[in-house]
Amino acid sequence: MTGNLDTKVYKIENCHGPLSEEDKVKIAECGEIIRNGGLVAFPTETVYGLGGDALNSLSSGRIYAAKGRPSDNPLIVHICSMDDLGRITEDIPEEALILAKKFWPGPLTMILKKSDAVPLKTTGGLETVAVRMPDNPVALEFIKASGGYIAAPSANISGKPSPTTAGYVLEDMNGRIDALIDGGENDIGLESTIIDLAGDKIQVLRPGFITNEILSDALGIKVETDPALLDPNCKERPKAPGMRYRHYAPEGEVIPVRGEPDRVFAHISEGLVKAAAKGIKTGVLCCLENASKYDADVIRHAGALDDAESAAHIFYTALRDMDDENVEVIYVENFTDRGVGEALWNRLLKSAGSKWEEV
Ligand code: AMP
Ligand code: MG
Repeated sequence: MTGNLDTKVYKIENCHGPLSEEDKVKIAECGEIIRNGGLVAFPTETVYGLGGDALNSLSSGRIYAAKGRPSDNPLIVHICSMDDLGRITEDIPEEALILAKKFWPGPLTMILKKSDAVPLKTTGGLETVAVRMPDNPVALEFIKASGGYIAAPSANISGKPSPTTAGYVLEDMNGRIDALIDGGENDIGLESTIIDLAGDKIQVLRPGFITNEILSDALGIKVETDPALLDPNCKERPKAPGMRYRHYAPEGEVIPVRGEPDRVFAHISEGLVKAAAKGIKTGVLCCLENASKYDADVIRHAGALDDAESAAHIFYTALRDMDDENVEVIYVENFTDRGVGEALWNRLLKSAGSKWEEV
């Protein structure tokens, strides 16, 4: 499509299902766009995806171009039925069947050996393919209407925070894609967990809502995270190509502050005073309890410090809000690193360029 045409928006009325007949007609139209090689952004339970036909290398090429994404950063293929897994993969291991049964549809992406049906363009040149079945009625209907295989990265310009509402998708993608399915706000707000089942060792390549503990329980083995993600100074490169790039970053400088809660509060308060004295516009992302105590230009709060789910849910929205308000420095309190907290810390570090202040 040409760059100056507006993206057509299809608003879904019953986005949590059951879908109305009108909704299904709109989704069928979007499926037709995909079959014809076009691009459509759509909601999932994690973040909005930017979809194209995964089995058409031209469509995948268009996805990289629309996002400004390096073409060696592979796309996740979204399916809507287990019957469709065999066509795109070789050697499905037992572990994949166990995890699919337990977590699909859901926020878990599995890396498997790819079949010849999947173009190398979709997998960034790799012989493996990332596959997921999203837990969202609009997404599942859309995948079905499109022929069963949607390649979709997050629907943001490469490097920016992932979009959690249709409005944020349009902010980045208007005129760059053919259509957008507006299915309201995403439930989880952080991207899926990625687990590698094709390598020498079963490993989490990107932490997410489904934690290592949950995966370990399901498989009866200890599942660990790719060590390159945990230590920014690690000599090895992260195995998921996407985790090598600066990512999820707003315009303003993100400063995560980690330590004992009282000291974190004192350190951020001091930083805000100094920044304000220099005329720098400030923002804070903090727990509910501290929201009224900070003196910053923009304050966004989640729940308690031990409630990582609440913080994960608002994280990208808060970063995008800060951009809308032209905030220059964004302090972020440290929420728990338990549960989805590991995924939150991983995204936070990426958004901050792998640095934080320890107090
Ligand atoms: P996004 O589409 O923005 O959620 O990013 C997808 C993530 O999955 C990126 O970090 C990719 O590098 C990663 N990924 C996709 N396919 C593969 C694969 N075959 N092997 C390893 N990582 C992958
Ligand atoms: Mg992304």
